[in-house]
Order: sequence, then structure tokens, then C-alpha cells
Amino acid sequence: MQRRELVYSGKAKSVYTTDDPDLYIMHYRNDTSAFDGTKVQKLDEKGKVNNLFNAFVMGKLSEAGIASHFVRVLSDTDSLVRKLDMIPVECVVRNLAAGSLCKRYGIAEGTIINPPTFEFFLKDDALHDPMINDSHIISFGWATEQQIAAMKELTFKVNTVLKALFEEAGMLLVDYKLEFGMSGDSLLLGDEFSPDGCRIWDRETRKKMDKDRFRQDLGNVIEAYREVGERLGVDFSSIDA
Ligand code: ADP
Ligand code: UDP
Repeated sequence: MQRRELVYSGKAKSVYTTDDPDLYIMHYRNDTSAFDGTKVQKLDEKGKVNNLFNAFVMGKLSEAGIASHFVRVLSDTDSLVRKLDMIPVECVVRNLAAGSLCKRYGIAEGTIINPPTFEFFLKDDALHDPMINDSHIISFGWATEQQIAAMKELTFKVNTVLKALFEEAGMLLVDYKLEFGMSGDSLLLGDEFSPDGCRIWDRETRKKMDKDRFRQDLGNVIEAYREVGERLGVDFSSIDA
């Protein structure tokens, strides 16, 4: 499957059409961004690491019955996906307090959140991705009540599957962001799951192993992403070949 027209170039990935109108190619670039795109840097091998990491996670989710847009890996940096009509909201589940939640509510980082919380954010960098609620989503037509219910259910289902997977590998899944879209009448998980869009800490030392290493200038960003993947069982050998 070949890349044809560039449909969209985001902060980290480029999306291309293919000869099949229902399929897109996601090209994972090395571009790394934080703070609504105001801090940017190219990090060697990030595209490859995130593409292979995402493929592994989407495979685990599929085994658990969670349908996504992911079809197959095409190369170290590219994956074939089902074309989605994206719902412009981000779904965030939190198991431990970190990031914007700590600032917003004055909660200490690392506080256990029981039961885990769910938040919606509007996907709009220019507006700094504001937090929104179900009522805003329905009134402004970003999604229907049924889509809201399905996104919440699937985002929590992902938590059940991935929290256990990370724990078995000695890590804590602190929080994560998911995006969904429509393929005909089916609501599918889209975009990616990688250390760019979640927080992962070592269970014993609480070392940060995700994009907070970039946000907070902690260094060894991609080394940490790879370590997370390797502990889960992702095969990165093609990167070194
Ligand atoms: P951003 O847009 O946040 O800068 P990326 O650089 O990761 O993010 O770009 C990927 C874009 O592709 C995102 O806007 C995402 O919503 C969109 N997207 C993800 N999966 C699909 C899909 N299956 N079909 C169409 N668009 C998708
Ligand atoms: N997140 C993301 N993209 C965004 C906003 C958040 O992937 O545009 C992820 C982020 O990496 C973290 C979770 O969603 O895993 C919760 O992020 P938070 O609200 O704490 O925002 P941040 O501190 O990243 O600004």
C-alpha cells in the first residue's frame, strides 16, 4: 500500500490517502511537541518507536475486544488505518494525579484517584484544549449522547486492559488520552496510544517514562519510551537492524 495525497500534517504525524478510499496511512514523524505546540523538537527514532509501540498496544486492545482503526504496520514509521471521521474531543482517564489535574484542583502529584476520573477536552490547540462537559458536547454538536456513552465506556475498558498490562511489567499507567472517530455507523478508537499521549511511571521508583521527560527537560526521552515498550514486550529490533 502506497502513500498518495497528504491529507493532514499534525504536530507528530502525517496522514495520507491510499488507493483504497476507506484506508489512510499514518506516518509517525520524529517531531515532538508540548504545551499546545509551543515547545517543539525532533527526537531521533521517536516516529519508529511510537509506531511500533502503538501497533503493539492496538493489538492487545483488539485481543480484548476493543475495536480500533489500526489495520497493520507497513514500515517502521508507517501504519495502515481505517479512515475515520474524527470526533473533535479528547477522552482522558486518570488513575493517579498528575499534570493539569494537579494544577486545576490543587491535588498532590501521585495521589491515587479512586475511582479513576474521566474528562473531556475540546481538541483545539488555539483554545488550549479547554475542558468541556457532556452538555457542551451535545449542545455544540461535537458528538451525540450515544457517542458520548460509547467513548466513556471504551475509554474505561481500555483502562482495565492497559492498567493490568503496565502493572504486570512493573509500571503504573497514571493517565492517558484517547481519540475516537466514526467509520460509517461504527465508533472506533483512533489516533495512537504511545508514551506521547499518556503518563507512565516505574512502579517502584516512580521514574517518569513518558512525554513529561520532554515537557520537564528530564532527558533520555526516547530511551524511556523504548524501555516502556521493551518491558511490555514490543519488538523494536527492526529499528536497530
Ligand atoms: P495533532 O492533530 O494533535 O497535532 P497528530 O500530529 O498526531 O496530532 O496528527 C494526527 C491527526 O490525525 C490527529 O488530528 C488525529 O485526530 C487524526 N486522526 C487519527 N486517526 C485518524 C483516522 N483513523 N482517520 C482520520 N484522522 C485520524
Ligand atoms: N494529553 C495528550 N494530548 C493533549 C492533552 C493531554 O496526549 O493534547 C495526555 C497527556 O499526555 C496526559 C493526559 O492526556 O497523559 C492528561 O493530560 P493533562 O490534562 O494532565 O494535560 P497536560 O499536563 O499534558 O497539559
